[in-house]
Amino acid sequence: MPIFEYQCNRCGREFAQLILNSKEEKEVRCKFCKSNDLMKLISSFSVHQAESSRLADFDASKPRGDDFYKDSRNIGLWAKKRMKEMGVDLGPKMDEIVERGRTGKILEDYEK
Ligand SMILES: [Zn+2]
Repeated sequence: MPIFEYQCNRCGREFAQLILNSKEEKEVRCKFCKSNDLMKLISSFSVHQAESSRLADFDASKPRGDDFYKDSRNIGLWAKKRMKEMGVDLGPKMDEIVERGRTGKILEDYEK
């Protein structure tokens, strides 16, 4: 099920919206202030997929492009934040994924 995350450019709040078709996607408005000035974030579905594949990839210790680190970092932090907000506890596995994203090379990239 395609659930998209949006950030409102007007009030800055984030919310999730279930999108059943492309027509609905165009009519999405902020749940808080009804603005249609929205920035689309990554979907929950994509995050779920990315987590497992990225976790599998991580131990390979191969050099990655900038996009990989940028993306992985965002997903880790974002996902943890979302899970917390939604009251979902994925346990140590989630923490491990996020911690990997916060240490080592990724951290160096983050500090720039
Ligand atoms: Zn808003």
